[in-house]
Amino acid sequence: MPSSESVASAPLPAPPLPRPDQRWALFLDVDGCLLEFAQDPAMVAVPAALRALLQALYARLDGALALVSGRGMADLLQLFGHPAWALAGLHGYQLRHHDGRHREIAIDPADQARMRRAVQALAARLEGVQLEDKQHAMALHCRRAPERLAALRIAAEALATELPGYELQPGNLVMEFKPVGMDKGRAVEELMQHPPFAGRMPVYLGDDLTDEHAFAAVNRAGGISVRVGWREPSHARFTLPSPVTVQAWLDRVREALGEPAGPKGVPIDATPDGGQPTDS
Ligand SMILES: [Mg+2]
Repeated sequence: MPSSESVASAPLPAPPLPRPDQRWALFLDVDGCLLEFAQDPAMVAVPAALRALLQALYARLDGALALVSGRGMADLLQLFGHPAWALAGLHGYQLRHHDGRHREIAIDPADQARMRRAVQALAARLEGVQLEDKQHAMALHCRRAPERLAALRIAAEALATELPGYELQPGNLVMEFKPVGMDKGRAVEELMQHPPFAGRMPVYLGDDLTDEHAFAAVNRAGGISVRVGWREPSHARFTLPSPVTVQAWLDRVREALGEPAGPKGVPIDATPDGGQPTDS
């Protein structure tokens, strides 16, 4: 049942809930999707209730839950309290599989050093622009000075032509220099090749331009693509208006998946297959 606020002004419908015969694989962007943006990405916090909801979904989906973010892996691990879920950091440049295996794409150290020096120098001379250092990638935000976006874009596009091994990824009031050859769509496709995702229907939620790669990949796979917010145009076929409504919808997904109302304090992740606890 679409909420009235999402159908009133959005051309896309609200996403459906899982049918009993569907086996979903759930991929979630973080900032602007699961969580509201903060002026400083380092000031974002994950409420305990949201962590518990994600843990419940992880259990009910037999582990087929992943966060797909522009944040770095260490940042994601810390933000979400070292969860068991699969994680794609830096748009998939860093990947941690469900079984704990990590894979990271090699970057030429000289390319990386050149990028870091150049972007730091650019940040220093652009007023109102805030540098987010992700080690292998760097983002220039102008959330505190949105009127600086045009100047930031021009300067970043010029610099990007001088940085081998890196490409510019525009986002919501941000221009990010990230390693070439990986995007969130490829990250989703890579995860979908492995258990517990393989053979399931991909469902992807995200808010930003960086998520469009994933929407396209999910559409190709016959899945469900959900744009959060109002940005257009989009490849997504469904929409939810805000992180608050995403959380509410995820809660209904959890209910639809039949999460048993066990006693409080029972660790859901003790039974990732949804079976019986081995002890009590
Ligand atoms: Mg986002």
